[in-house]
Amino acid sequence: MAPVPDLVLHAGQAVVDGDPTGPTTVVVHAGVVEVVAPLDRSVTGREVVDLGADEVLLPGLVDTHVHVNEPGRTEWEGFATATRAAAAGGVTTLVDMPLNSLPPTLDPESLAVKRAAAAGQCHVDVAFWGGAVSGNLGRLRPLLDAGVLGVKCFLPDSGVPEFPAVDAAGLRRAAEEVAAAGGLLLVHAEDPAVLAAAPEPAGRSYRAFLASRPSAAEDAAIARVVEVARDTGVRVHVVHLSSASALPVIAAAKAEGVAVSVETCPHYLVLRAEDVADGATPAKCCPPLRDDVNRDALWAGLADGTIDLVVSDHSPCTADLKSLDTGDFAAAWGGIASVQLGLPLVWTEASRRGHRLADVVRWMSAGPAALAGFAGKGAIRPGAAADLVAFAPDADLVVDPQRLHHRNPVSPYAGARLRGVVRATWLAGRRLAPDVDGDEPRGRLLARGEA
Ligand SMILES: [Zn+2]
Repeated sequence: MAPVPDLVLHAGQAVVDGDPTGPTTVVVHAGVVEVVAPLDRSVTGREVVDLGADEVLLPGLVDTHVHVNEPGRTEWEGFATATRAAAAGGVTTLVDMPLNSLPPTLDPESLAVKRAAAAGQCHVDVAFWGGAVSGNLGRLRPLLDAGVLGVKCFLPDSGVPEFPAVDAAGLRRAAEEVAAAGGLLLVHAEDPAVLAAAPEPAGRSYRAFLASRPSAAEDAAIARVVEVARDTGVRVHVVHLSSASALPVIAAAKAEGVAVSVETCPHYLVLRAEDVADGATPAKCCPPLRDDVNRDALWAGLADGTIDLVVSDHSPCTADLKSLDTGDFAAAWGGIASVQLGLPLVWTEASRRGHRLADVVRWMSAGPAALAGFAGKGAIRPGAAADLVAFAPDADLVVDPQRLHHRNPVSPYAGARLRGVVRATWLAGRRLAPDVDGDEPRGRLLARGEA
């Protein structure tokens, strides 16, 4: 006789293996989805959950772009707070970026330091990207072998001195080395020469800040990245695409068979330059929020598959570094912290534009899981991790930064009314309780290929 399942969920609606489905029963044992079947309330287990009539069962989100900053800048963000925010937002796996922590993740030793800092603190599963900088070229293979999912480099200045950019020759060297290792190269694609030729940002003016980071910088850098990917055969991923004018180059590269993928972020899909008031530095990020025409074109790029996925680029800092008092866009740290809000943000705008919840799941769960190489995540299907979310797509949420779990309550979304509420999150079949102090952190630290 089969053992009694650990958990049985009955849902009126679900997104199963990428498709919207009606009434569904999901049976979970030992952290894994065992059975997905039409609703059958006679199926029982140690724990049985009936989702509310207004809730849809989704696979947990995978957020491959999170800056945790611990150790070294833990006052900006730490593993406990970031993963608690993730859990509250329906994100069951996050991948930490290699920079803004000290040390940055540039070799097996620094990866070990990061893993030690994260151990025992994580409320969701956590994996790590490594970094490629001018100083560790030629030593990327041991870093990949130590378990990072891939390596990220910057073409412009990264904002922190310990993570220097690679120049054109360095990009090519990194690509060759990562290609030889069968790895993945992530690129922050803004061209430093185009940025240097652009006007300097000036004080509180958002228009001046936007002019300092033109679309042309992204477009030039992405053209170069595509060329290097074509020449070297490296798998390359463009992080946080903001400039929609780069989409034709990306689409053409994909059609040609170049191994390039692209992400954008909730803020580029939701916020518009036209709405950013002068001095409103919570909205500063690099590359910047652009105009409404650009935003529409990013949505079109998502709809036609040129953009593969949507991840947060959760990049917090302390409130003082956001220069809230002066509103100086030149001085403020660039970054928006939204790991907890990604799902309602994207759903609010996606639903308005006629997209389905299954599309959002493809962009925010299946797509990032594939990028991370986690074959057992990103979908509700037998054999996959029982990482699950009960989401109420028609419920209202008003953003109160004080109630977000990330460490520093700064948000450009303060007061925004969003559509969709995460009601519950399960990690490996166990319900997370991010609102409860002292909830035991049960997230695992994952290396390449471990999920
Ligand atoms: Zn980032």
